[in-house]
Amino acid sequence: MAHSEDLERVIAGPVRLSRRTVLRAFVGAGAGMLLTACGGDDLDPFAPRSQTTPTTPNDTEQAGDATEGQQQVGQQSVSQSQAEPTPAAVLPEPKVYVIPSPVSQGETVLLLVEAPGAENASMSWQGQTFSLLHNEERFLGFFGIDANAPIGPQSLGVSVWGPRGEQLLWQETVVEITGVEWTVDNIQIDGPNAALLDPSIRRADERERLPHQSGLTPGLLWLGVFDPPSNGAITALYGEHRSFNGAPISEYHTGIDFGGETGSAVTASNTGVVSWAGRTRRRGNGIIIDHGAGVFSGYYHLSEVLETAGSVVEQGALIARMGATGLATGPHLHWEVVVRGVTVNPLPWLRLLEFPDPYQDLNPANALSSTNLAES
Ligand SMILES: [Zn+2]
Repeated sequence: MAHSEDLERVIAGPVRLSRRTVLRAFVGAGAGMLLTACGGDDLDPFAPRSQTTPTTPNDTEQAGDATEGQQQVGQQSVSQSQAEPTPAAVLPEPKVYVIPSPVSQGETVLLLVEAPGAENASMSWQGQTFSLLHNEERFLGFFGIDANAPIGPQSLGVSVWGPRGEQLLWQETVVEITGVEWTVDNIQIDGPNAALLDPSIRRADERERLPHQSGLTPGLLWLGVFDPPSNGAITALYGEHRSFNGAPISEYHTGIDFGGETGSAVTASNTGVVSWAGRTRRRGNGIIIDHGAGVFSGYYHLSEVLETAGSVVEQGALIARMGATGLATGPHLHWEVVVRGVTVNPLPWLRLLEFPDPYQDLNPANALSSTNLAES
C-alpha cells in the first residue's frame, strides 16, 4: 500500500519528505487499516516502578505487587532465555524519533517509535502517560506544546513492551522547547460583551468543552492536510497575547479567526466524528470534531450548528454557519486545533509543507522543522 511504502521511506530514507507524505504515511485508518491503541491512558507504566521493571500495562496484578512481581517475571525471563531464544532476545532495540526537534511553543510534536515485534508502547510527558498508536512495526503519538510552555529542555519518557510482557525499552529523552515572541493585542470590549470577560465565565466554558477534546480515539480518522474551514480572510492568528480594556495580559488567542458575514459557510477542516455541539456564554455556539489520535478541531461563535454529537463528518462538509455568538465583536469564525488537550498553532496543519531532508544527518528528528513551517 502506498502509505506503508511512504512510512518505510520515512524510516529507511534518505528521501525528501513533504508534510503530505508524512501524514499520508500515518493515515492507515483512512485507508481501511485501523490503528490500535495499546493500553489505557489511565495506566502509568513509569510512575511506581524502576526502569527495568518488566511489567506491562496489561499486567496489573504484577504491577500491584512490585517487588515480588519483578522477581517472578525476571526469573521467568532468564530461565526461558536459557532454554530457547525468546522473542525479546532477538528483537532489535526500538528507535525513538521526536519530530520536530527542537520544537517551538505552540507546535505539534510527533513521537515515532520504530519497534518491530513489540506489542505496546507509551509515552510519559509532563506528568501524564499516553498510549501510543500501533501501526505495524511502529508506534506513534501526537502531543501539543502550549504557547506558554516553559522554554528549555523537558523530559519525555518512552516505554516499549514485548509480546511476553517484557520491557524492551525505557528511555528518557529531552525535548528542547524554544520560545516564540508572541504579539500582544490590546482589545477594547464594551457593552454586554464586557461582562463575558469574567474569568468564571471563561472557566465554565473550558469545563464544558474539555472532556470533548482531550480523549483518545485510536486511529487517525483524518485524510491528508487539513483544509481551512472558511473562505473568509484570516483576521487573527494563534498565540497573540491579549489584554482586554487595559488590564494585564490574561490569555492568548488559541486559534485562528476567519472574517465573514453571519450565515457564511463553515466546513469541516477534515474528516472525523463530532464530539460536541453546544453553546457556552464565552464561545457562543460551537462544534468540536474528533479526528482521532488525540487531535480535535473546534469552531465557535457560530450562528447555527448543523451537526450533532456522534455524527460522522467528511472533510469539507458544511457543518455550521458563521456568527457572532458569545464574546465576539462581529461575525467571524474562531477555529482551533487541539492535540491531547493542548491548543496548538493550526497553521502547520493547513499548509502543504516541504521539510528538509531528515536524513541529511541520518536523523529524522530534523524533519518538520519550524524554520520550514515559517518559509512555506
Ligand atoms: Zn478567535
